[in-house]
Amino acid sequence: MKPKDQSFDANKAKKSLDTLFGIFADISNNADELLKSRCPYKNAKSRCTAKFECKNQHYVNQFGALPVCTGSDFLDYRSAWQTDKKRTY
Ligand code: SF4
Repeated sequence: MKPKDQSFDANKAKKSLDTLFGIFADISNNADELLKSRCPYKNAKSRCTAKFECKNQHYVNQFGALPVCTGSDFLDYRSAWQTDKKRTY
């Protein structure tokens, strides 16, 4: 069996990289937009993973459970942060 031609096509490679860059730029832009309204400490189950206190934390009566985030994804969450106070749990 004859080996395939594996010569490097710089134009094809550049086009592929440009396509990949465009895809990652879109993902990054969407993430930037999302972070303007969704707190980065809020996990997928709407639990707070921050190590500081926040007015939006609602503690549940379950040992070891992360507090529920009661913040809205439509409002700026940063004014609720109390980063000078360590969370106690
Ligand atoms: S409780 Fe506060 S710090 Fe925690 S995820 Fe919600 S907004 Fe963010």
